[in-house]
Amino acid sequence: MVQNDKFTFIESALTERVQSQRLRSLQPLQPIDVVHVARSGQVLLNFSSNDYLGLSKHPTLIAAAQQYTEQYGTGATASRLVSGTYEIHQNLEEKLALACGREAALLFNSGFQANSTILAALLDRQSLVLCDRYVHNSLLQGILASGARFKRYAHNDLHQLEAALQQAQQNYSRILIVTETVFSMDGDCSDLDGLIDLAERYDAILYLDDAHAVGVLGQAGMGLAAHRAGVDLVVGTFGKAFGAFGAFVTCSRKLCDYLINCCPGFIYTTALPPAVIGAIEAALLLMPTLESERQFLRQQSNRLRTELQALGYDTGASSSQIIPVLLGTEEKTLSLSRWLDKQGILATAIRPPTVAAGTARIRLALSSCHTPEHLDSLVAAICIWDNINH
Ligand SMILES: *Cc1c(COP(=O)(O)O)cnc(C)c1O
Repeated sequence: MVQNDKFTFIESALTERVQSQRLRSLQPLQPIDVVHVARSGQVLLNFSSNDYLGLSKHPTLIAAAQQYTEQYGTGATASRLVSGTYEIHQNLEEKLALACGREAALLFNSGFQANSTILAALLDRQSLVLCDRYVHNSLLQGILASGARFKRYAHNDLHQLEAALQQAQQNYSRILIVTETVFSMDGDCSDLDGLIDLAERYDAILYLDDAHAVGVLGQAGMGLAAHRAGVDLVVGTFGKAFGAFGAFVTCSRKLCDYLINCCPGFIYTTALPPAVIGAIEAALLLMPTLESERQFLRQQSNRLRTELQALGYDTGASSSQIIPVLLGTEEKTLSLSRWLDKQGILATAIRPPTVAAGTARIRLALSSCHTPEHLDSLVAAICIWDNINH
């Protein structure tokens, strides 16, 4: 017999969220342009999107999506191994492999799906995973689903990672090192040389999530892990700087063949639709031409960090277009976020459990479409809030 109402657990979970002021709800927005959205008629300057190059509104991507829809239809109609692999899927994979300097690339329907299922396919209960404490939830899901032994090392602490590798004397089937190149909530980078060196010396598989670097950093904007020998798998996404949707992994031909055969998240899902493939292809073609946009984005990021720090704010170890304003308490974070909102600026508060307790923050994400004047108004609004609250 069920003791309570069968949905009691839902009531308690939601009540708990209300009491801890962590109940979240969806806020519908209307996109206006790359950096502006409207909410209930109010126009907001958006510092909370991952459209780092403004490609989601680029006419070339829109035209390509339209053209592929007209030519191939709105859906791919089947999974990749059944009848959902069109030439456009395979061509795109070949171009991605080439652009990243790898033997092979494989498309996935999202970054979340890629991480959560590729890791599960690579690991078994006899494996050991060593991952950075700050990795994205999708990576944790894959690790947990596999049932592998797993240890988290302190954020970007390669000494602790090496100690864990040394301690791993037990006969594991394999050891995976899992981390991100640019961290999604902190905007700092991992030490790729150090990671590659450790993976080689301890014969571990190195798996990198390049989601926030693809489009923005590295050779022709193809990410920090592209063209790097010693990295075994790299996951990139198309929903951020590529302005589209979906994800890809680059790896050896053999590993790619393994995933095609053994990764349920690749096998049992409908292939990406033609419109999305068209948009990604157009973005990929543009990538090498966007060097000045990337440079401008870096300049703007440096400037914003410098100005926030001059005001006494902690931006952590950020060195990318993702700039956290670390405020510590959820109260302060919500107060600033709400203040900015009133000033017509969208800058979302990121709170536990998404980040560690005591590290609540405003996560600012810049786009190359933000002008210096946009940054001026952001800094001015923060300044006024700062004055009121001190
Ligand atoms: C956004 C993100 C993902 C998920 O990618 P989607 O394509 O949005 O599902 C995975 N890893 C990291 C680090 C991300 O920031």
